[in-house]
Amino acid sequence: MSLLQISDPSSGPRPIGIDLGTTNSVVAYVSSLGEPLAISDCDGVVLVPSVVHYAEDRTIAVGPRAKALALDHPEDTIVSVKRFMGRGADDPETRRMGPYRFATSEGPVVRFRVAGRGEVTPVEVSAEILRELKDRAEDELGQVGGAVITVPAYFDDAQRQATKDAARLAGLEVLRLLNEPTAAALAYGLDKKTNGTFAVYDLGGGTFDVTILVLDDGVFQVKSTGGDSQLGGDDMDRALASRILTALGLEGTSSPSFTRYALDAARAIKHALTDHETVTTDLSHEGRTASFTVARDDFDALIQPLLQRTGVACRRALRDAGVEASALDGVILVGGSTRVPAVRRYVAQLFGRAPLTDLDPDLVVAMGAALQADMLAGAGSSKNDVLLLDVLPLSLGLEAMGGVVERILPRNTPIPAAAAQVFTTYADQQTGFELHVVQGERELAADCRSLARFTLRGIPPMAAGLARLEVRFDVDADGILHVTAKERTTGLEQKVDVTPSYGLDDATIEKMLEDAYEAGESDIEKRSLAEQRVEAERVILATEKALSEDGDLVSAEERASIELATRRLREAHAGTKHRVIAARIEELEHATHEFAGRRMDRAIRGALAGRDLVSVEETTRDARGIEHAHDPLGPSAPADSTEVE
Ligand code: ADP
Ligand code: MG
Repeated sequence: MSLLQISDPSSGPRPIGIDLGTTNSVVAYVSSLGEPLAISDCDGVVLVPSVVHYAEDRTIAVGPRAKALALDHPEDTIVSVKRFMGRGADDPETRRMGPYRFATSEGPVVRFRVAGRGEVTPVEVSAEILRELKDRAEDELGQVGGAVITVPAYFDDAQRQATKDAARLAGLEVLRLLNEPTAAALAYGLDKKTNGTFAVYDLGGGTFDVTILVLDDGVFQVKSTGGDSQLGGDDMDRALASRILTALGLEGTSSPSFTRYALDAARAIKHALTDHETVTTDLSHEGRTASFTVARDDFDALIQPLLQRTGVACRRALRDAGVEASALDGVILVGGSTRVPAVRRYVAQLFGRAPLTDLDPDLVVAMGAALQADMLAGAGSSKNDVLLLDVLPLSLGLEAMGGVVERILPRNTPIPAAAAQVFTTYADQQTGFELHVVQGERELAADCRSLARFTLRGIPPMAAGLARLEVRFDVDADGILHVTAKERTTGLEQKVDVTPSYGLDDATIEKMLEDAYEAGESDIEKRSLAEQRVEAERVILATEKALSEDGDLVSAEERASIELATRRLREAHAGTKHRVIAARIEELEHATHEFAGRRMDRAIRGALAGRDLVSVEETTRDARGIEHAHDPLGPSAPADSTEVE
């Protein structure tokens, strides 16, 4: 009896979830029964190798066919393009990777020179992978609605933006970028609980990521992230391959052909060892043969150093999150390499509990993305909506007077997030503010990563400290930063979306954190020095202004002592001891104390005679210099202009 095809009442464009992986990608959707399903090709294979091959005749192969061509056409076959996403052409990291030909022409992003196409960007290469996934989904589902695409939790602005651009290029509407670990937690239905703390251990082909997630009243927050961008199953392959080469009598060979053969054999043996205690293989390549036997115990010993490295990153992530391993409510395994039994044992030991393994670690991220896409598409709004919060991997701030960083959104702030801070002018008659947005944990802006600079102009000249510049940082749900600067008294406003020209990977972030940690004390010294210098400049400027305006209020003797204190402060300002500067500031303030009192009396009398008291108070309050006014004592300050360039 033939079955009637029953049409799905919710048919129409279907939302999809995509795990755009470094090694493999997966596309999934939610069935009419509410179940997340990964889409397979005609051979029943769901993993699409994230590989794109460009041929001389302008044809493009993606996935398994591209992977097969990589051996013979290494330069025209881009593997692991995800590592290049959002990176600058001058990024030394990119030069170390792969056998590629990079374009030498000017431009902010990396470009590969490939057969048939001239130059392609990582965004274009990723778009090919996404197009392939979209095609597969369309074959299965007919029309495809929007997509949720997952990205590593540590992906920065540029990397997220690049991922979105790739999707747009592939003709996909991005419903949301979702952090990979959060997607895994959704796949396990952890959002159905109300509270809990979870670790997501993701060991893929070439990267390791660990994330601590907290579910609080049905809301997910990424508490911390960590990992190693150069650690994964490929390292296991390499360790085993060197044994294979030894067995073939080719220890330390540099033959590309034998190396490739050994790596492929190693991977097959590694996969077999996941299900078998011992594996024996007859090796044979270019006339050399050997019988090769490995026991699982040998393999486990071989990969111990790799496992230890994941342990270091996990302990650090727990520390960052302020969570004890014993306080975890679950550990989720993600990534093909977590199939290895030794990995599972190691994770169980590390966290003191058996990890969740019910779902296929290769598919769990795509399944979570599909569930989220389904939720966002909103058809089945019966399910409780999960508000997904991610976290900032590095602090975001502004450069303030003296080059110190004013942190606006600290690292590990859950996103979406917004924060505003009010700044004021440092110099009289200043008509512009230069804003410098930076990312990082260091105290001085010069040591952080510069994300954007922009200038707010056209502020009417006012006395120092009168202008009120409100700077707002908004980080949206996709992790992209929008900065708004508004001068309150005039309503003047300017916005920028921060899309830096190149990105950071987790190794760089780790390095920045380490540097910040190591530099901690000297940074604080530097910061104090910078702050004291700014303060010294402000006090000197104010003193000179006061003497010139109300000089008739001081006796000759008083003037001499004020001038002496000013000179001494200038000397300290030229030195490098912030405590000395602080002491001399106090000295000068002491010397001007009575004079300041008399000035205040005069100002108040003036106000009572009809002048504006409020403005008097405003000008005399301590308006800390936060802003980039030109440095009135510095050599580069233009004497005739107060506008900031
Ligand atoms: P990525 O997240 O980098 O795209 P995947 O999660 O797809 O990577 O993991 C790919 C890695 O998983 C490869 O190193 C592969 O050899 C490994 N892997 C897949 N299946 C198994 C298995 N059965 N046993 C051991 N390792 C496996
Ligand atoms: Mg992965």
